[in-house]
Amino acid sequence: MKILVVNAGSSSLKYQLIDMTDEKVIAKGLCERIGIDGKISHKTFDGREYEAQIDMPDHTAAFKCVEKALISGDAKAIDSMDEIGAVGHRIVQGGAIFDHSVLVNEQVVNDIEGLADLAPLHNIAHVQGIRGCLECFGDKIPQVVVFDTSFHATMPETSYLFALPYEYYEKYKIRRYGFHGTSHRYVSARCLELLNMKKEGSKIITCHLGNGSSITAVKDGKCFDTSMGLTPLDGFMMGTRTGTLDPSVLTYIIEKEGLSAKELSDLCNKKSGVLGVSGVSSDNRDVEAAAAEGNERAKLALEMQRYQIRKFVGSYIAAMNGVDAIVFTGGIGENSAELRKSVCDNLAFMGVKIDDSINDTLRRGAEGVFSTEDSTVKVMVIPTNEELVIARDTKEIVENM
Ligand code: AMP
Repeated sequence: MKILVVNAGSSSLKYQLIDMTDEKVIAKGLCERIGIDGKISHKTFDGREYEAQIDMPDHTAAFKCVEKALISGDAKAIDSMDEIGAVGHRIVQGGAIFDHSVLVNEQVVNDIEGLADLAPLHNIAHVQGIRGCLECFGDKIPQVVVFDTSFHATMPETSYLFALPYEYYEKYKIRRYGFHGTSHRYVSARCLELLNMKKEGSKIITCHLGNGSSITAVKDGKCFDTSMGLTPLDGFMMGTRTGTLDPSVLTYIIEKEGLSAKELSDLCNKKSGVLGVSGVSSDNRDVEAAAAEGNERAKLALEMQRYQIRKFVGSYIAAMNGVDAIVFTGGIGENSAELRKSVCDNLAFMGVKIDDSINDTLRRGAEGVFSTEDSTVKVMVIPTNEELVIARDTKEIVENM
């Protein structure tokens, strides 16, 4: 069976076509500037490429372009859309409704739309993606939705409740939901597989460190706690996001600068984090380059980022009363040997030891353990693969229809 994995944004649509017989990507691509003008970039596994500027007024038009790229021209990947067994969509917010992946029907689409308050940018775009897919392919290709939040549905109340009056949880469902769940699920499961460990009794900390970042405590193979909260703003500092703040900072800024809720949200989501502190960029590579040239604020931003990551890892070791393995993933986690080292060095007191020569060789795409044989905790890099999780869930659901 071939599965088309889709990640629909408000003006973009990322896709991968995966052949589930060997779980290999046959083709992938990106539609951009949907609703503005439109551009598609498409590539097959054997390196054939297709790029075009095509008018894409909406997501339906974008799916038509994807269909054309997949079945015709020099970079075609399949002969007909009939070869595609199902479409799997990534959905950011499943709220308290979806604790597992499900087949799409009208009720499911309405529920995802109804959760838009909790992820306005993402969920509305996902619904546009689902509807566009339905309009383009009709109901002959089943659609499945896989939620970033559902891996975190196993958190106990003590992890997911905020210390607000309880009625805010009852009335508005204000709680920690967590994000990047598909990534944390993939790397924690892969960690157990690589270390030949059973879920029961295992304690793993997964660090998804990219432009958006989160850390999860995974106990018995299930999420026990995670750093992102009601929205993906919580946790530690990211490319442009603040992470956790003293809430009074926000009321103080409102008083001083008279910001609206939207302006405050933009400040915390888009202008803060590594970008806000360094004044250089939200991209770690740019900030590392500036720090190497002596930029003091760039150095400070990187130090703060490492310090906050160390604090989260440490707190989850205490929360789980131990840890068997720490996993790094995401653009920064997979590539920055310096950051990984700085987190692990502060755990030397509890017997964590890393092999610098292995750590230094692990870069994007490489999977491996870089702790020493006698380290009390295994430390590793596992490149994440959210698309594969979506494809696997989609296949399983469709096969059981
Ligand atoms: P992601 O959101 O997972 O694509 O990760 C993006 C982040 O990974 C950006 O901050 C990049 O600067 C960072 N990144 C990518 N490659 C490297 C690298 N070789 N060294 C350090 N950071 C990197």
